[in-house]
Amino acid sequence: MRLLTFEVDNIPYLGFKLGDHAVVLERVYPYLFKESAPDWCEDMLSFLYYEEESMEGAEKIAHELKALLGSSDDLRPFLEKEILYPLDSIHFTAPILNPEKIICIGRNYRDHCREQNQPIPSNPIIFSKYNTALTGPYDPVLKPEQTEKLDFEGELAVVIGREGRYIPKEEALEYVAGYSIFHDVTARDIQFADKQWLRGKSFDTFAPMGPFLVTREEVPDPHNLSIKTIVNDRLMQDSNTSNLIFNIPYLINFISSGITLSPGDIIATGTPAGVGVFRDPPIFLRPGDTVRIEIQNLGFILNNIVEGQIE
Ligand code: MG
Repeated sequence: MRLLTFEVDNIPYLGFKLGDHAVVLERVYPYLFKESAPDWCEDMLSFLYYEEESMEGAEKIAHELKALLGSSDDLRPFLEKEILYPLDSIHFTAPILNPEKIICIGRNYRDHCREQNQPIPSNPIIFSKYNTALTGPYDPVLKPEQTEKLDFEGELAVVIGREGRYIPKEEALEYVAGYSIFHDVTARDIQFADKQWLRGKSFDTFAPMGPFLVTREEVPDPHNLSIKTIVNDRLMQDSNTSNLIFNIPYLINFISSGITLSPGDIIATGTPAGVGVFRDPPIFLRPGDTVRIEIQNLGFILNNIVEGQIE
């Protein structure tokens, strides 16, 4: 299932993708079952907190709706009742707007260590971005005036679906709700000058994410997905998640050994080789540039770089 958070007339909805449409959970539920929608229809975080109940509920809705639609090509009744919206008519936001944590991993691809002449780390390097950096998969990334070295990092994001601590590696994937595309936008000059990475990675809009949270049963092997970053028309990063140094079970075990993982937590698993700062000559993002990140089976995100700040 491809879950999404989107806005119509600035009102946010939780939904899932059905063909070329987004189904609004809080509207389809009462339509199908003649009772008010449960709390898990409200937003992604609530949905993830209800674990199996919400997943099974959404699957039941998809099943019933497909059966209903199967008998007719006419979507008008559903469109009129605002149960469905065409995907090209909605504003995608990040799939989760209010995660408890965004946990990022530094230097987690062999090729990315090589390009900066750094040894392969013996333990994962953990840092964080603030939630306020999240933005939609097709929204602009704002270049703040404080940086002249804005860089790109395409990443696979893992979204946690179950609370846990000291999670064994063998059980780790059961704690995953699904996967998404994440852009760890970075102001290199600020990252290096501050020493601590948080500020240079947490400016508003420095975390585009989406377009969907693709649930884990649709991604049978998250460690074999091609990942590409294209700036304007130029292919900058071209790798595969098979090149991760610390794989997803390792990361979940490592992080949860002392830090409680909660539903909705995002783990950005690190970026492969090809970022701008380690190129010769270096390449930094300028207003007018576009950055497209593609991950096999998850779609793509596309963000324009725009000078400015949120008013
Ligand atoms: Mg990164």
